[in-house]
Amino acid sequence: MLMEEVRIRLLNLESVADLSRSGNEWDPHLLEQAFGREMGWKISNIKRLPQDCEDSVIWKKANDGIFTTKRAYQECCQFQDCRDQDVWKAIWNSKIHPRVAVMLWRVLAGCIPVKENLAFMKDKDCVLCEEGKESLKHVFWDCPFARALWFSGMFPVVNARAIGSDLKELILFFLQGIPRNDKWQFLTFVGCMFEEVWRTRNAVLFQSNRVDILQSRVSISKRLEEFYSIQEEQLVFGTNTKRVETYLSWKIPQSTTFVCFTDASWKQGSAGLAVGLVDRASSRSWWSAKWSRAESAMEAESMEILWALQMALEAGIQSIAMASDALLVVKAIVEESFPPCWKARAVFFEIWKLVKLFNSCSFVFIKRVDNEAADVVAKTARIDGHCKDFINREGSPFVIPNYLF
Ligand SMILES: [Zn+2]
Repeated sequence: MLMEEVRIRLLNLESVADLSRSGNEWDPHLLEQAFGREMGWKISNIKRLPQDCEDSVIWKKANDGIFTTKRAYQECCQFQDCRDQDVWKAIWNSKIHPRVAVMLWRVLAGCIPVKENLAFMKDKDCVLCEEGKESLKHVFWDCPFARALWFSGMFPVVNARAIGSDLKELILFFLQGIPRNDKWQFLTFVGCMFEEVWRTRNAVLFQSNRVDILQSRVSISKRLEEFYSIQEEQLVFGTNTKRVETYLSWKIPQSTTFVCFTDASWKQGSAGLAVGLVDRASSRSWWSAKWSRAESAMEAESMEILWALQMALEAGIQSIAMASDALLVVKAIVEESFPPCWKARAVFFEIWKLVKLFNSCSFVFIKRVDNEAADVVAKTARIDGHCKDFINREGSPFVIPNYLF
């Protein structure tokens, strides 16, 4: 391939010998001309075989260069791992409710105790249809009960056309055909359906209940409605903010009069929150710090931003730039997406509400090293457990890093 491309530029080039000097050496000048400086340099570093050696094909993935079918298989498995990553990435999407994501994960990772996986169970028959053997793929896909539910979803799932040897491959197959923004809805449906299938299976097995497809359909659509409405509330929220100038910026907007530095220090449920406020017009500054309980570092980071917004509003500030070194938190606030840590979600709702009350509220990312002043105050507040309310001292020196202007 590479040679084909190069032949357009160097018409006389036929073989490696044409890129060589006598004595079996690369011609660096020609290599650079043909492949460019970087690639040419890389090629020139490839050790040449002695001239009297025969060319041979090698398997580059193995140190000894020998090809075996086992090694080819291992390569294919690596590719499979990549595909696996795609499934997990799709499942752990912030739009999918954690309960649904966990169910999907349990089924696709094979963590559901189906009879096939239980060596001590002699009876392997599927209790839902009494026809097949109870394997993961049977219960959640091949079983007539599962099929009826797959077919009843809002996504047209035609079993006959699906390609995939296991459930993970099947899900990947369907995801390919679904627009990007709708994937979470599809996976939420599949998760609810899996949950219903497994609940029914257990009810039939342990409580001798009967299979009721109609009832199961109703249960799934009820649960779906719940999860979709949670997500929609969030979407409505997003459109409301258009009125307010909220954005992630690398610079503090010229018009912004107040800059706020925040940081949190967190350890084992205990957090110190620090907020520093600077009035750009008068160069006056205030520090506030307090101790609080927080479930995670991310929750603490979002709590300190929430607290800063509350104080700024109480002080009658209309336009503010919030500087934080917690990039993930800042990004999630601006994009109105949930943070990776679900424990911080509640605080995020509060923040989104408050942000709308300013005329202008921007978020800037500050390097950790430049946020040291806030860091020190936060640490002190965390360690001094007695500091349950906030301390307030005026006039501490403040340095706004140059790159924020
Ligand atoms: Zn069955």
